[in-house]
Amino acid sequence: MIKRRKTRQVRVGNVLIGGDAPVAVQSMTSGYTHDIDGCVREINKLAAAGADIVRVAVPERKDTEALKEILKQVTVPIVADVHFHFQRALEAVEAGVQKIRLNPGNINDRSQVEKVIDACKERGIPIRVGVNEGSIVERKDKQRRLKELGAVFSDNRHGHLLAIMISKLEEYLDIFYERNFYDIVISAKSIDPLLVIDAYTEISRRFDHPLHLGVTHAGPKETGTIRSVVPLGTLLANGIGDTIRISYANDPIYEVQDGLELLYVLGLRDRRGAELIACPTCGRIQVDLFTLVQQVNTKLKEHITLPIKVAVMGCVVNGPGECEGADVAIFAGDKRGIIYVQGQKVANVPEEKILDALLEQCRLFQDKVNRGEARLGEKLVDIIPPDPIGELGSGYAKIAAEKAGGASLPILNS
Ligand code: SF4
Repeated sequence: MIKRRKTRQVRVGNVLIGGDAPVAVQSMTSGYTHDIDGCVREINKLAAAGADIVRVAVPERKDTEALKEILKQVTVPIVADVHFHFQRALEAVEAGVQKIRLNPGNINDRSQVEKVIDACKERGIPIRVGVNEGSIVERKDKQRRLKELGAVFSDNRHGHLLAIMISKLEEYLDIFYERNFYDIVISAKSIDPLLVIDAYTEISRRFDHPLHLGVTHAGPKETGTIRSVVPLGTLLANGIGDTIRISYANDPIYEVQDGLELLYVLGLRDRRGAELIACPTCGRIQVDLFTLVQQVNTKLKEHITLPIKVAVMGCVVNGPGECEGADVAIFAGDKRGIIYVQGQKVANVPEEKILDALLEQCRLFQDKVNRGEARLGEKLVDIIPPDPIGELGSGYAKIAAEKAGGASLPILNS
């Protein structure tokens, strides 16, 4: 079990961040906030996918004006993402958002920041201070501090950038502390995953505010997943991080799904819905497993709400071992599959019926668990692997065909 670093807790609407609260998953809408219907639709879709908090951009007055109506139609806490214009923050606070995000790189006028702090303090809402690598500004009057910090980080691969980020953060947070404002969440994102690890690690040593983890502009999902999950997973495994946002140049629904999955596999959140494991296939495969796995994945999301562990294995070679602990499992053979529920064989069906049969067993098992007649993760009997030549049909036709001089024979299983 991961031992998490203890941080000060802040409240974002009905969600707690930091302290002993579970790591929260965030995402951000990709449409215009002033398009009220579209924005509400997107927020509710992200919330239904499991987002705990959703952020919206408010670049213009018409965006903050839309917030009041949007807030009436959503239940998940909303964060207003403010850049350049501190008035947008004040308007968003007035509209009733549950958190503000400020960027020290583009709102650094002290009196403006103070106005936002005072407004948030009055409403009891937290502020995220996000020092993104891409928007930090090196200021001439901070050269001495940078030099000091540069020396501290001289043996770090990101010494200079880290120095700027920490310096910027210290300088900015002083404004908050002077006004006795401590409902702060910190983020220090970068496009460079290694800098993300180093920056958050350093910040976690220096501040006890909860940390919002993320990689900026991680790119398309295909490569952004690795770019995000490596640093976020590393930090979380080290106990660092209180809320996360994975960002892709794609539908933000993937950000929520992948963020949750990351927390599930690290044991930092209780899983919602089925857990699907599947073999990668190899030269032994005799069914279209890739298609089957995609279909099973989709159907499980639609029909299964309990964290049932489902295993889809291409053959019996590694199946029993890899299915150990699976509640419902299938081993495929030659154009067919055998289904097990907690170790007990329950069906042997041809390939075209595998999906329906597997789903039916998952549903039946879920019903039994809900009635208290079965327990998740319990193994009733050891899985006895099916005979690959017999009941799974694997090799039977080939062996028979060889004996018959090349003619293929039908499979004999029912
Ligand atoms: S379960 Fe069978 S088909 Fe799948 S990868 Fe392992 S050996 Fe290959």
